[in-house]
Amino acid sequence: MKNTYFTVGPSQLFPTLEQHIHEAIEQQIGSMSHRGKAFENIFSSTVLQLKTLLSIPEDYFIFFVSSGTEAMERTIENVVEKESFHFVNGAFSQRLFDTAIELGKHAQKIEAPLGEGFDLTSMQKGVAGEEGLPGARTELREGALTGGKRPTGPRIPQETELLCFTHNETSTGVMLPSKEIAMIKKHHPDKLIAIDMVSSVPYGNIDFSFADIVFFSVQKLFGLPAGLGVMVVSPQALEKAKYLQKKGVSIGSYHNFPTLKFYAEKNQTPETPSVLHLYLLNKILEDLLAIGINRIRKQTDEKATLLYDFFDTHQKWNAFVKEKTFRSPTVIVADVGEDQTALMEQLKTHGMILGKGYGTYKDTQIRIANFPSLSKKDIENLISLLHNYT
Ligand SMILES: *Cc1c(COP(=O)(O)O)cnc(C)c1O
Repeated sequence: MKNTYFTVGPSQLFPTLEQHIHEAIEQQIGSMSHRGKAFENIFSSTVLQLKTLLSIPEDYFIFFVSSGTEAMERTIENVVEKESFHFVNGAFSQRLFDTAIELGKHAQKIEAPLGEGFDLTSMQKGVAGEEGLPGARTELREGALTGGKRPTGPRIPQETELLCFTHNETSTGVMLPSKEIAMIKKHHPDKLIAIDMVSSVPYGNIDFSFADIVFFSVQKLFGLPAGLGVMVVSPQALEKAKYLQKKGVSIGSYHNFPTLKFYAEKNQTPETPSVLHLYLLNKILEDLLAIGINRIRKQTDEKATLLYDFFDTHQKWNAFVKEKTFRSPTVIVADVGEDQTALMEQLKTHGMILGKGYGTYKDTQIRIANFPSLSKKDIENLISLLHNYT
């Protein structure tokens, strides 16, 4: 019996992937030169399909790196000289913050408790105050962030160069409303904005024109094996990297933005890349475009509703994220307490593999991927087994 992977990455492979891999072997993709025409065609087609699927502006750059984690380092290195500001509400947003610290930047953060988001709407008012708009607060209040509690945490400092968001915090199942992230950028047009969308692209519907760096990796919603990261970079972010380079600030070597751009313009990469991965991503993009982005989003919402409805009406178990506006449709996290181990074991005997909780919740929570590779039927089967757990 083959397993079905509801794990949050790597996860269930896209149903067509096996066929694509067979074709790749037949076409001897593994021996293809990364400096030849055939590769350049794969590269340009992948870029074009990504831009089409996600409505990415024409003048934005698409760079290929090795992972989401690499993209975090490239983000800080290429556009931050000294100051970054981070919205931290879990392990992945914290990782980006830590990366900035490790690279010697002066990084500051505002934190929300695990399982919660930020009240970005109230923050815009506070933020506007800094810019002298009448009647607005001048402090970023955590109360505003967590629903009216205490004021703590720094305001977005004037000297911040980059604002960092994690759109979907995979460790806790919190998704931030992308329209509100856009509003923050509107109030800070002078600052660059980076969004980790590793576990929300292509479901996440953002207006790329306000974002400067968006990154993701392919083992989450694209249903591919791990090992390829994608960065979407604005012309402004590229300019910043060039400016820092000229100033003598280290922006890294083979994967700095100017070098990546130099090769991307030739439909190539600086290094010998994982050609097989790019080939497969191109094929999966073709499949996703055929399904249609609206349908993908709608199906994701429908499946998420089934899962949240189940946990909301369960006698013992609960969805971890209480506030509905912050509930991630792509990563559903539930508190199952002491049932966790036995529950996961029981599901495993039916070939269903769930994710454990993250960090402090690793023994009391389950995490369920609701990715496009998992059908409504898969989710219904899972719910039925959860329902029958004894
Ligand atoms: C998985 C994940 C990452 C790390 O990506 P890798 O490709 O594993 O390096 C970063 N951010 C988020 C939100 C993730 O879910």
